[in-house]
Amino acid sequence: MIAPEKNQKSRSRIQEICCRKPSQLLMSLLLPLVVIGGYFCPRIGFTVLGLITLFMVIAGFRGRFYCGWLCPMGAFHERFLGLFSLQRAILPVFKSSWFRWLLFVLMMGLMSSRLYLAWGDSKAIGAVFRMMWVLSTGLAIGLGLYFKPRVWCTVCPMGSLQGVSSRNTYLLTVEDSCVQCRKCWEVCPISTYPGAFKQEEGSGQVPSIECLRCSNCVVNCPKKALSFQ
Ligand code: SF4
Ligand code: SF4
Repeated sequence: MIAPEKNQKSRSRIQEICCRKPSQLLMSLLLPLVVIGGYFCPRIGFTVLGLITLFMVIAGFRGRFYCGWLCPMGAFHERFLGLFSLQRAILPVFKSSWFRWLLFVLMMGLMSSRLYLAWGDSKAIGAVFRMMWVLSTGLAIGLGLYFKPRVWCTVCPMGSLQGVSSRNTYLLTVEDSCVQCRKCWEVCPISTYPGAFKQEEGSGQVPSIECLRCSNCVVNCPKKALSFQ
């Protein structure tokens, strides 16, 4: 889905579902723990493995809910990087499948090869997981300072993994009462436009991989046309 081109600097009137912000602020503490603490104690990198297990379990019944509510990197970008970001519109290439899966293959290839070399040494394995977070965070900060702060989440390999493993799970539904006002697109952290999935008859559904289940659009839709399956 290609979002309408527009600068989204102002987000001051966005309403949010309760509990998401505190949950994100709490989880964002894990980012410095792994990135900085992992430098001194590499085994802290195993935190990443724990989080991968957590999101794969959650994806089984809530899709990319982990991305929207619990991901330490996503939370950091949304709550802190957003204070400094220029918030330019996300380029269509970030929404394209080929780019998403190319990045997935490259990053998973890098991680697999480093894990192969580190096999048998728990400190070295922990350091590999930390290294992947340092790399992802660096890329995400660079992109998020110019584009919307959660631009990385449109191509994050871990988000893609959750998206494909939950194709039919807890999908965002668009009722035909939608008037395609684009308010949902304005408040979406990854510039998904649910109104574009409206069907003339019956309800449309936003693909799992395109939605973090954050509920921003549900809360802000003036026609109450959005809900989760
Ligand atoms: S905010 Fe609601 S009415 Fe407006 S485009 Fe989105 S789903 Fe449709
Ligand atoms: S489509 Fe709605 S629920 Fe999904 S990420 Fe965007 S704002 Fe959040």
